[in-house]
Amino acid sequence: MEEYNNGSEHQDRKDDYEDICYMCRRPESKAGKMLHIPNTEMCICIDCMERSFQLMNNNNFMNGFGMNFQDMFDMSGGVDPSQAVPKSQQLKKKKPEEAAPVLDIHHIPAPHKIKAQLDEYVIGQDHAKKVVSVAVYNHYKRVATNTMDDIEIDKSNILMIGPTGCGKTYLVQTLARLLDVPLAITDATSLTEAGYIGDDIESVVSKLLAAADNDVERAQQGIIFIDEIDKIAKKKNVNSRDVSGESVQQGLLKLLEGADVEVPVGANSKNAMVPLTTINTRNILFICGGAFPDLERIVRERLTRQTSIGFAAEIRDKYDNEKNILNYVTNEDLRKFGMIPEFIGRLPVVCPLQGLDTEMLVKILKEPKNAILKQYQKLLALDEVKLEFEDDALTAIAEKALEKDTGARALRSIIEEFMLDIMYEIPKDENIGKVTITRSYVEGKGGPLIEIRTVTADKNRQALLPDSSQSDDKDNKE
Ligand code: ADP
Repeated sequence: MEEYNNGSEHQDRKDDYEDICYMCRRPESKAGKMLHIPNTEMCICIDCMERSFQLMNNNNFMNGFGMNFQDMFDMSGGVDPSQAVPKSQQLKKKKPEEAAPVLDIHHIPAPHKIKAQLDEYVIGQDHAKKVVSVAVYNHYKRVATNTMDDIEIDKSNILMIGPTGCGKTYLVQTLARLLDVPLAITDATSLTEAGYIGDDIESVVSKLLAAADNDVERAQQGIIFIDEIDKIAKKKNVNSRDVSGESVQQGLLKLLEGADVEVPVGANSKNAMVPLTTINTRNILFICGGAFPDLERIVRERLTRQTSIGFAAEIRDKYDNEKNILNYVTNEDLRKFGMIPEFIGRLPVVCPLQGLDTEMLVKILKEPKNAILKQYQKLLALDEVKLEFEDDALTAIAEKALEKDTGARALRSIIEEFMLDIMYEIPKDENIGKVTITRSYVEGKGGPLIEIRTVTADKNRQALLPDSSQSDDKDNKE
């Protein structure tokens, strides 16, 4: 609250954000001019002001109860009058017309550049990266040119299909960061039809608005990632109303296509105390992701059914052994899985991702710009200790991660487990200059290789140890 008290920061904030009527919670852009109540942060719109006066004249309402304005506001929720509307519920003011557009067509990177940047962070998934780069490029070209005349460019919302931990969310996060657009990540399982327990469908747009710092224009060009989309497949054999499955798909239709939606600002559901604003979703890029278990079987069955009509036994075998069977997925297969045709129709770009194998997991450990190994190496380098991993050790970590079946997500927890001792013990001894992690240490059968430095870390850098002591001092640490 302090930051609200006078000062330039307060002034900046007032200039950037719209006023909100304390009574009807409508923002300035909807309710019109606001009257500021002196010595408070409260504003009230003309409509509410008129209504209040009318009420007072008709019934002598407030005097009858011996109340003044302040009492009346206190009654409406006991909110601190100096902070009439919480920060999270204030809207950014519209930029003047001449201000630079949020996206400039000349500044959207070409697909190959988007992919090259993604390559620095996301390992493998070449096909997915290519598909996403082109789809995103086209999407933002469509937004920037804004040609809605005779040739209307369709929206290129994306559906990502791939096992858990293979990089779906990571790919989208990296993309949003590179493009510098706001991103909201939601879980489809938390959504329910309006009126039922759970988040309203429009809450996904509210989240994007919050990610855009309540700037409506920026939010309208952001990305919404809806994870676990396979969990809202039509439920089979249910007699009750399917409020979290098919109804959610139905509810998402208009958002995916582009519509004006009234969304609560700074909250997940609409209620009397939350201001509402209108957001147009036409230029919001929707990316849905899911593991779609069982979809492989559906695709394989369809392919083998087709080939079994002819005499194509080898082709059948080919599909049986095909690792990336999801590359052959069709809308028909997704419909069979439980997605409704209208929903699939609004996600025209289907992008399968592969499950990660040992080789890819090893690469994830060491190659990305912010790879886990690089992070640990940096941490130890601050203690002037060199950290190395034998290739065999990396393979062992990857093999352990594969067993957990949660993709690359398992890597960090495995490394953290055995690095704990190292991060604890190393700072104790200033003489340690290098630590090498071996397979036996990862497997819990031995210790890491420790090398003592020839020169101590002290400022004078005096040689303390004779050369012979450094090379074969391979103690077991444990
Ligand atoms: P999901 O596919 O279930 O959405 P995530 O994208 O959340 O999986 O992946 C979990 C974590 O694993 C990410 O934060 C990232 O660090 C790592 N990861 C997964 N796949 C890759 C990949 N292909 N390249 C680099 N890191 C990855």
